[in-house]
Amino acid sequence: MRIVPIHPEHASRLQQPSIDRTRASSPVLPASPTNGAAVLLDRLGRPFTDLRISVTDRCNFRCPYCMPRTVYGPEHRFLPYDDILTFEELTRLAGVFASLGMRKLRITGGEPLMRKDLPRLISMLKDVAQRGGDPLDMALTTNGALLARHAAELKAAGLRRITVSLDALDDDLFRAMSDSQTSVTVVLEGIEAAQRVGLASVKVNMVVRRGCNEDQILPMAEYFSGQGVELRFIEYMDVGTSNGWRMHEVMSAPEMLTVLKRRFDLSSLAREPGDTAMRFIDRASGATFGIIASITSPFCGDCARLRLSSDGRLRTCLFAPDGHDLRALLRQGESDETLASFIARLWTARSDRYSEVRTSPHSHATDPAPGPRPEMSYIGG
Ligand code: SAM
Ligand code: SF4
Ligand code: SF4
Repeated sequence: MRIVPIHPEHASRLQQPSIDRTRASSPVLPASPTNGAAVLLDRLGRPFTDLRISVTDRCNFRCPYCMPRTVYGPEHRFLPYDDILTFEELTRLAGVFASLGMRKLRITGGEPLMRKDLPRLISMLKDVAQRGGDPLDMALTTNGALLARHAAELKAAGLRRITVSLDALDDDLFRAMSDSQTSVTVVLEGIEAAQRVGLASVKVNMVVRRGCNEDQILPMAEYFSGQGVELRFIEYMDVGTSNGWRMHEVMSAPEMLTVLKRRFDLSSLAREPGDTAMRFIDRASGATFGIIASITSPFCGDCARLRLSSDGRLRTCLFAPDGHDLRALLRQGESDETLASFIARLWTARSDRYSEVRTSPHSHATDPAPGPRPEMSYIGG
């Protein structure tokens, strides 16, 4: 595959990279340490290794920080089914991304377990290998409401890792934070099912919103440390525009750590390059915790992620207003080679670092940046 680099001066004007089948090029890319293949680097020297695929924009919850019912009510028009990529299209694209260096693949949404036959997609994606032949590191993020029902099928289909979102152990608070009638017990049963069927890694994500669920930090930490489940606290993010995000609702990573240290004897673990979480271990129990501090300690510096929405639009950043239409290329019959070249050009032109810019000394860090920002339920969390 030939990669056609884009000159940095032109890259900022890039919207939809054109398909260039004529220019031969020899990009200067370092070799991968593992197999000698070229590593795709963006303009800030970051390699492409991770893809998140949103398999649906629909959800059975209405968490106000993500899909507030005032916006996602009965009138809301979700994507028509014909616009959503088929399993065959997704699998073909996954192969193309793998040829470009993808090692990690996360299936998300919306609520991915709302997508009919999801285990069949997992079993199709399982056969996509990394360059060099190793299996992809495939994970799923879910709200857990349908997990108890599907855990065994997901495991049988080849899923190895799962992250379940749960913001509180208190039932009333959980129902308010998910704006659903689902009880905490249902989600806990899903988590137990995931462990019972033998998924290799089960993690829990908890969004912490000041004035809302910070009193759940210790109960959640105590509960999951006893279950062998890594709990990851997420700073409430300014993603999308429908949640009305304000800085005063963000409980910062240092504040969360202060709370945790009342109960746990924490020391830091090394952060894996490209990982979103700072990780800690409790010396007494060996339990591990993560904090995803995209507001107060952004990790754009080694962000290796692309995001594909369920209708096939590819974004180079969670906050990128524009997506690049892979579905059109797929459905007009372009070859894998052309798709790969298109994606490679997009990555090599990438310079996104939204969260770092927002927290820079010259920005108004207490406000979200002006302008359109895509909703997380659409592009995939
Ligand atoms: N529905 C699935 C779930 O909730 O796990 C997957 C999609 S959801 C968009 C992925 C993750 O994004 C969840 O862990 C959710 O809590 C998180 N999330 C959504 N909106 C957020 C926000 N404004 N700030 C921080 N995390 C958010
Ligand atoms: Fe649905 Fe997940 Fe968004 Fe909650 S965070 S509304 S569960 S997509
Ligand atoms: Fe990556 Fe964009 Fe998030 Fe920075 S703001 S970590 S570049 S997705």
